[in-house]
Amino acid sequence: MQFRFDAAPARIYWELTRACDLACTHCRAGANAACDPRELSSAEIARVVDELAAECQATIIFTGGDPLKRRDFFEIVAHTVKAGLPCLVAPSATPLLTSKVVASLASLRIGAMSLSLDGATPSRHDALRGVVGTFSRTIQAGREIVEAGISLQINTLVTADTIADLPAIHRVVEHLGADRWSLFFLIRTGRGQTLRQITPVQADAVMNWALDIGHGRPIVTTTEARQIAGVRMALVLRCEGSGSETATVSCSSRTRARFNPPDSFR
Ligand code: SF4
Repeated sequence: MQFRFDAAPARIYWELTRACDLACTHCRAGANAACDPRELSSAEIARVVDELAAECQATIIFTGGDPLKRRDFFEIVAHTVKAGLPCLVAPSATPLLTSKVVASLASLRIGAMSLSLDGATPSRHDALRGVVGTFSRTIQAGREIVEAGISLQINTLVTADTIADLPAIHRVVEHLGADRWSLFFLIRTGRGQTLRQITPVQADAVMNWALDIGHGRPIVTTTEARQIAGVRMALVLRCEGSGSETATVSCSSRTRARFNPPDSFR
């Protein structure tokens, strides 16, 4: 792969606000319900979007906090789409994320939306997100996003407390019809400083498993798991060493059985 620095930046994760109505245990932003008066104004945001559009074709991912907490959210998205920049949205699953919001984003032709799912059951997910009802809102919004024809990504936090649930979460994500499942390995910062990391051996097992299952739909990607390139290479080399004719990272169910039984996450 060739790096094209003249085409950079390729992706911009734009935290429009720190405000959010959830209270996640791992929130690195330390979000709370109120918008900060020091946030950029609508005019300032529009100016930055125009400057970006003049210089590059970066994909803009509007996130937060919860970007829906901004009153000018739709104005910002509409301006970005009009400026010709690919636009993705990462809202929080709160009462602000209504069917009407999803329909409006579909009509603006945004590229994708992402939601977070950190447990396969209401009690597991809601415990991490700090608000009862978040699981059912996430599932409902996920269905509406897919039905509206918007590509859906589900993000899942990987910690010592969520790792055993990953296979069950994967089944929920498949059932929702998401295009992508992204595993976010915990960074202990913000409110997440007290959460428990998985061990290196568990991280290896998760990455091998992700590589093995991640070629169907949803595709599986990782965030903050930089060693995955080494894990992928080791898997390819082991497949080649075993004489497999299909020495790719998705080469065989035998590989899954040998390296990655979900039980090894426990
Ligand atoms: S949804 Fe995101 S911004 Fe909101 S509390 Fe959770 S981690 Fe923080």
